[in-house]
Amino acid sequence: MKIEKNSAVTLHYKLSDVAGKVLERSEEPMTYLHGGYGNLFVKVEQALEGKTAGCQTTLELAAQDAFGERDESLVQVIPKSEFPPGVKVGGQLQAQGRDGRARMFSVAKIKGQSVMLDGNHPLAGKALRFSLTVTEVRPATDDEIAHGHAHGAHGHHHS
Ligand code: ZN
Repeated sequence: MKIEKNSAVTLHYKLSDVAGKVLERSEEPMTYLHGGYGNLFVKVEQALEGKTAGCQTTLELAAQDAFGERDESLVQVIPKSEFPPGVKVGGQLQAQGRDGRARMFSVAKIKGQSVMLDGNHPLAGKALRFSLTVTEVRPATDDEIAHGHAHGAHGHHHS
């Protein structure tokens, strides 16, 4: 069957930057509910619409169609003395953004006694290339449609 609204689609994916450097690849296939439920980027769903199992496709997304542009107001410099000992580049912590809401920040840089925190998604501001291989297409169940996500072996698991 073809991928259409309320299809449960199983696929393998590989995510690269536009220079071809692989950033992430699926270890196991994943299943998502197709049809604008916000499970995949809109442009990726558009590329998959009408495709069938066995189909392979590669597409490039501009940053604004993927994880968004970088927001430099999410970069904050904080004195090292305010951190527990052992703060490291690449570490993550939850902190309050300027809007007062909690969000995840990663330690981007440590220079002398200053620590630069970045609240942007690590892939924000990057154009990305998706290589997708569809392995299975089936109609979604009523439960899946009600929940807005796919269930089953490679889908969402409820605890
Ligand atoms: Zn569910």
